[in-house]
Amino acid sequence: MSPFHSGFVAVVGRPNVGKSTLVNAMVGTKVSIVSPRPNTTRSQVRGVLNRPDAQVVFVDTPGLHKPKTALGQRMNESATSSLDDVDAVVALVEATGAVGPGDRMVLANSVTRVRAMARSAALTLELGGGDPAEVGRPTLMVVVNKIDKVGGDGVLGHLTGVSDVVAELDAGSGGDPVPVEYFPLSAATGEGVPGLVDALIARLPVGPQYYPDGMVTDVAEAFWVADLVREELLHRVADELPHSIACRVTEWEWPRVRCEILVERDSQKGIVIGKGGATLKEVGIAVRKQMEPGAYLELFVRVEKRWQQREDSLDRLGF
Ligand code: GDP
Ligand code: MG
Repeated sequence: MSPFHSGFVAVVGRPNVGKSTLVNAMVGTKVSIVSPRPNTTRSQVRGVLNRPDAQVVFVDTPGLHKPKTALGQRMNESATSSLDDVDAVVALVEATGAVGPGDRMVLANSVTRVRAMARSAALTLELGGGDPAEVGRPTLMVVVNKIDKVGGDGVLGHLTGVSDVVAELDAGSGGDPVPVEYFPLSAATGEGVPGLVDALIARLPVGPQYYPDGMVTDVAEAFWVADLVREELLHRVADELPHSIACRVTEWEWPRVRCEILVERDSQKGIVIGKGGATLKEVGIAVRKQMEPGAYLELFVRVEKRWQQREDSLDRLGF
């Protein structure tokens, strides 16, 4: 039998390129919330892929973007630090548009990171004289996502464009060329996803099983429920309240679960509650359906002015 491979994989890309959708497609279970709004994923969520021959731990990072608020700043910090301790980097861009400044920044960070990883793998081999297959082969996996939205020629043109940018960034950073592989795929339809998973596993070092079988995420269940509440709310009120909502579970006494919804203004509180409480009720029903049967979910809305700007609020919310 071939040895067991395992490792941590950072999934990076600017907001909305499809990171959460891809992690969910690879793991095969809903572990991270997906929404058409950017910045839905506010903290690192790990999905764990278990196979008889391998275990892959995905770090689904918030997208890198220009920070405008204290929250934005923290999200960038956590996105950057997630690159520090991984065995592979999957960088996503979209097939639907040209490579933008945000994509360039993500790709530049990824090239730098993979170069450092390659160096330390080479050093390990030199010092230990180990087997290259056991140390792994650090590679930058560039995913061109959403190919279902463009024709074959469009995908090809985009691949050329992206690889030109990566080659340019790589040449500019000095040293040996970084190993790069390209994966045109659709996280939404699943086309091309198995190929990426197989290639990833082949590049990971021989390693232990970090998490027990059957565990697909290490996010505390409370965070998971708070995220579900946020996701269901965003589906219903996103146009009015793009980034003003935060949710946290304040009590967990199974089957009683209390979740607080923070908004920034009184007017937003009314929107979240809905006419005669209708919106909040719908959200509660939708979330309960996704929880273990028997949950009794209580939702409360609280106004906390400027929570996005306040460090103490961010601490309490666990950002
Ligand atoms: P993230 O911000 O990078 O985590 O992006 P999400 O995974 O939340 O996806 C953002 C939006 O893009 C959602 O509306 C997804 O349904 C959509 N999306 C993601 N992958 C694909 C894809 O392969 N094809 C299409 N058509 N839409 C996608
Ligand atoms: Mg996301």
